[in-house]
Amino acid sequence: MNLKLRELKKRLTEISDLKAALAVLSWDQMTLMPPGGAEARGRQIAVLNRLSHEKLIDSELGKLLDELRPLLTELPPESEEAALIRVAARDYEQAVKVPPSFTSEFSEHTSKIYTAWVKARTERDFKPVEPLLEKTLELSRRLANFFPGYQHIADPLIDQLDEGMTVAIIRPLFGKLREELIPLVKAITSRPAPDDFCLRGQFSEAKQLEFGLEVAKSLGFDFTRGRQDQSPHPFTTSFGIGDVRITTRVRTDFLGEALFSTIHEAGHALYEQGINPDFDGTPLADGASMSLHESQSRLWENLVGRSRNFWEHFFPKLQRFFPDQLGAVSLDAFYRAINKVEPSLIRTDADEVTYNLHVMLRFDLEIEMLEGKLAVKDLSEAWNERYRQDLGLLPPDDGLGVLQDVHWYSGTIGGYFQSYTLGNILSAQIFEAALRANSGIPVEIKAGNFQSLHQWLKRNIYRFGRQYPAVEIIKSATGRELEIEPYVRYLKTKYRELYSL
Ligand code: ZN
Repeated sequence: MNLKLRELKKRLTEISDLKAALAVLSWDQMTLMPPGGAEARGRQIAVLNRLSHEKLIDSELGKLLDELRPLLTELPPESEEAALIRVAARDYEQAVKVPPSFTSEFSEHTSKIYTAWVKARTERDFKPVEPLLEKTLELSRRLANFFPGYQHIADPLIDQLDEGMTVAIIRPLFGKLREELIPLVKAITSRPAPDDFCLRGQFSEAKQLEFGLEVAKSLGFDFTRGRQDQSPHPFTTSFGIGDVRITTRVRTDFLGEALFSTIHEAGHALYEQGINPDFDGTPLADGASMSLHESQSRLWENLVGRSRNFWEHFFPKLQRFFPDQLGAVSLDAFYRAINKVEPSLIRTDADEVTYNLHVMLRFDLEIEMLEGKLAVKDLSEAWNERYRQDLGLLPPDDGLGVLQDVHWYSGTIGGYFQSYTLGNILSAQIFEAALRANSGIPVEIKAGNFQSLHQWLKRNIYRFGRQYPAVEIIKSATGRELEIEPYVRYLKTKYRELYSL
């Protein structure tokens, strides 16, 4: 390997290792750390953050990249070296374009608004955070303007997590999806609602955890290269391709919580564990985009984990875990319970069909704010109006309305919400492609065998990590650009059958 490339790899590995150390500290903070550790931990995290950022914006790294960039025309585009230069240059550019003074101004503001939001949400009153959110909007616009040449002001914010995605691509897709979803939700809610009583009752924590682990193992989660713990909010983190951690949250009065959060996070983890081991310790050892990552958690959680085929195999096992609660419940009743559709006010409680309506309205509102078409002072009213239009519900207060999600109160306005729905759209597009390549997958799932699906995903998506941009991975894996049709087909087929529409 060229000396300069070796130097690049060495620098990148130092940054990756600092980030991994940071991830260990954060993981511990959310799982095992006693409350007394909070202050010291905050300090330790801040210092590692600073060190890794300093290494990333080091002008020596910039010089090295300038010298290496011409190599991109000589190296085969599919080589690890070419990918490393491309990804390192992108990360470097993203980091150096934002002045450090702005970053500290933003982070100071973020801790202020976050604290105010916690209080406002408890008091269910948007008014006190309104001026602070105006400041967030201003800062979000300023952040976008460090990346001139965009078509839409939200594009640079979206690009940070979803490389290559733009408002011009997303807006028409979401518009079409909304037109499909609203009548589907109307049709479903005109039918009698299924009973999900079988998911509610008393379920021992230990047994729920044991069952969840068994499911995760069957899906292909490698416990010699990962583990599961508990945390208030489930998440997945990685300290290296050989150490991928997931967490879950158990509710003893609701079976659906730990079960589906475990499958969801296991989906993220299968992606991380499936990355080419040669990429370990480099920035290539990560998901290609936020949406693509989310597509994998959703694919395993919903297209696999909420399918009838899956439960043909697992329901008898689950009944053996909980004979008193589920012994007399039929597979059909259980399948209907886990797929119950019910318009609600809270995004995180939403079912598969209504979920995207929650996300898309947030996306539209943040775009309107960034465009200057919606003022922060009118946000609460605009929010409530969209809930009335799209879900037929009116939030009784801001706590159940505009204050419910942490996102706008802990980061930018714009750049995050789209990835949830893009992930859902992609989950179906990718699952369809896997079935086209191997029509035996549903039969295997019915037998509790996920190997063919897992292998296909590994071969076509996971192993690449960030070697190629997400848009290229999607195109080569599915043969198509991002499209909503497979997702709409999936939802309509499944829910027409479930609700006899
Ligand atoms: Zn997720």
